[in-house]
Amino acid sequence: MRTARSYKGIELFRVAAAFLVVAIHTSPLAAYSDTADFVFTRVIARVAVPFFFMATGFFVLNGTGVRRSLKKLLIIYAASAALYLPVNVYAGHLQEWDLLELIKQVFFEGSFYHLWYLPAAILGLALTALLMRRLSRGACAGAVLALYALGLLGDSYWGLIENIPGVSAAYRAVFALAGYTRNGLFFAPVFFYLGAQMRVKKPRPVGIEAAGLAVCFALMLAEAMGLRALGWQRHDSMYVLLPAVMYFLFALLMRARGSVSLPLGSFSLLVYILHPAVILVVRAAARVLGLWDIFVVNSLGHYIAVCAGSAAASAVLLWLWSLIRPRRVSDTARAWVEVDLDALRNNAERLEAFAPGSCSLMAVLKCDAYGHGAVRSALELNRIGVRAFAVACCAEGVELRRAGVKGLILILGYTPADQWRVIRRYRLTQCAVDAAYAHALDSAAKGRVDVHIKIDTGMHRLGESFEHVDAVAGCFALTHLRVTGMFTHLCVSDSLDGADVSFTQEQLRRFFALTDELKGRGIDTGALHTQASYGLLNYPDGRCAYARAGVALYGVKSDGHDGVRAWPELAPALSLRARIGLVRELPAGEAVGYGREFITSRATRIAVLPIGYGDGVFRCSMHGGAEALVNGKRCPVVGRICMDQLCLDVTDAGEVHPGDIATFIGTDGPETISCEEFAAKSGTISNEVLSRLGKRLPRVYRN
Ligand SMILES: *Cc1c(COP(=O)(O)O)cnc(C)c1O
Repeated sequence: MRTARSYKGIELFRVAAAFLVVAIHTSPLAAYSDTADFVFTRVIARVAVPFFFMATGFFVLNGTGVRRSLKKLLIIYAASAALYLPVNVYAGHLQEWDLLELIKQVFFEGSFYHLWYLPAAILGLALTALLMRRLSRGACAGAVLALYALGLLGDSYWGLIENIPGVSAAYRAVFALAGYTRNGLFFAPVFFYLGAQMRVKKPRPVGIEAAGLAVCFALMLAEAMGLRALGWQRHDSMYVLLPAVMYFLFALLMRARGSVSLPLGSFSLLVYILHPAVILVVRAAARVLGLWDIFVVNSLGHYIAVCAGSAAASAVLLWLWSLIRPRRVSDTARAWVEVDLDALRNNAERLEAFAPGSCSLMAVLKCDAYGHGAVRSALELNRIGVRAFAVACCAEGVELRRAGVKGLILILGYTPADQWRVIRRYRLTQCAVDAAYAHALDSAAKGRVDVHIKIDTGMHRLGESFEHVDAVAGCFALTHLRVTGMFTHLCVSDSLDGADVSFTQEQLRRFFALTDELKGRGIDTGALHTQASYGLLNYPDGRCAYARAGVALYGVKSDGHDGVRAWPELAPALSLRARIGLVRELPAGEAVGYGREFITSRATRIAVLPIGYGDGVFRCSMHGGAEALVNGKRCPVVGRICMDQLCLDVTDAGEVHPGDIATFIGTDGPETISCEEFAAKSGTISNEVLSRLGKRLPRVYRN
């Protein structure tokens, strides 16, 4: 699961931030003015490290990449410490390290003065991920802010507590172990957390964000100058206003979208790691070349030389690495699913707007979000404010929660009662599939489990019968169950046929008669919901708290012929594509594929594609007129579809070469094959096509 990183502003600012860090360590304006140097390196440049933490939080903490990221940071840390080991040996530092000093160097200081960033990033990321997993949003924000506040007192606000005996002793103990409070414990978490929260940030006008940055920065400058005048600063990395400045700065950077092909993240990291070594080289070279005054004495000349040297060294290393690095298989090398996240978000917003009054969208993400990728889809939907999700089974719910998905996660299907601990641990809401199940779950559970009671109003799949009022009422009295909702499922809401409409209305009548009766008995029935996609589109209902939309959320109908009363401009989010592997010319009368079933009736150009029924292109569709688009033209599938291969007749598609892309679902030029059409040719519905797209197809996300 991968996205082309499409935040150009953030990627470009990485480079600026790296050069700001170099400034902190070289004081470019020191030769001109102490105040200018303070403002540049101790105030402006102080955004650099928090920015790196936020960018990591933004890209990593919302997904499943925390472990991978930590591993990478550890490797980089080990390599950097090794790189500077000779310098430490030369300077005789190692001889002075007792156990306490060693702990301090490894966990906080990073063994060389600028490397503190790496242990801080590792500790901060791990700690923030843990807090986010264990605590609610509010508690987590409170925790990281409290840590930051504690850090401030040991950093810029040291003067405030320096003379309070007990407090300053406690801080001195911290300093003995960690050197500073500017570390992974006190400093980094607030920025990692803030970065993660930027994904769910409410959109604001650009003017407000720009003004916010200007005002907060001006205040931070005043804060810094004030602290400097007071002489309170033991160190000058942390300001009260820094998180606010970072919020607005990051919000503005997020606006610049578009992809960047250069590895700017690696480049800025290398500049950061290498620049102290480059400082040594610049000094040596300046001495040898007799340029000491220009490149060492002159602070600006020194800064420019160090930046240029670091940039050149980093570029050369990246180029060398590109020659030898092991390549990853490209996601679009063979066959893949493309998901248009913009379409998904728009569909969610349109359905939410379409649902009447207080009814909100419950996004149905079962079976890996109908093939779209459940984790990624849920996180995107979280980001735009969707707070309710439905999955088919407990494991799907756990996967979402572990990835950091917030809000209600309702398990629509059966979960054995002995799994209650998992349901509870991941704050899932279980469907009580009938009253007997509710009792079994209650007996098994030793703690409170949230449930929505399912009512059977005529579909006769899951649910307690609508007629068993007492049995349903009894579920509300069970000690270990907290009933937070009730729902039913409609079985012909996709049909506008008279008899089906009456049946659906009867189902709704039965459900609400039951809930009214329970309310009459003083029972709080919780959130009520009755509609899936077609229910929402054909029977919008203000009495419902949720509409459980699945197929419509993905912008498709189950069957292309389904009539719906409304279709609020929903657009398909998914395409299925594959690359042509081989093109061959065959004369008339030749057979293609297993069983020699297809015989060419003319000179035919055949394209062989590395996709088959193992990927979800149903074998039976070869008899249903299956096609794919090549060069914007429809080309028939010929011969039997295999597990991993199939053939297209591309005779009429113009020039076709290996490596060209064929589209099985989606648009190519003027032509589109809809999911509904693809399904019809396989004798099924979109829901089955989407949920059976093969696991081995990479999902490629477009913003
Ligand atoms: C699958 C499912 C849905 C979603 O159905 P769509 O028709 O795809 O919107 C809603 N409710 C229940 C109980 C389901 O099983």
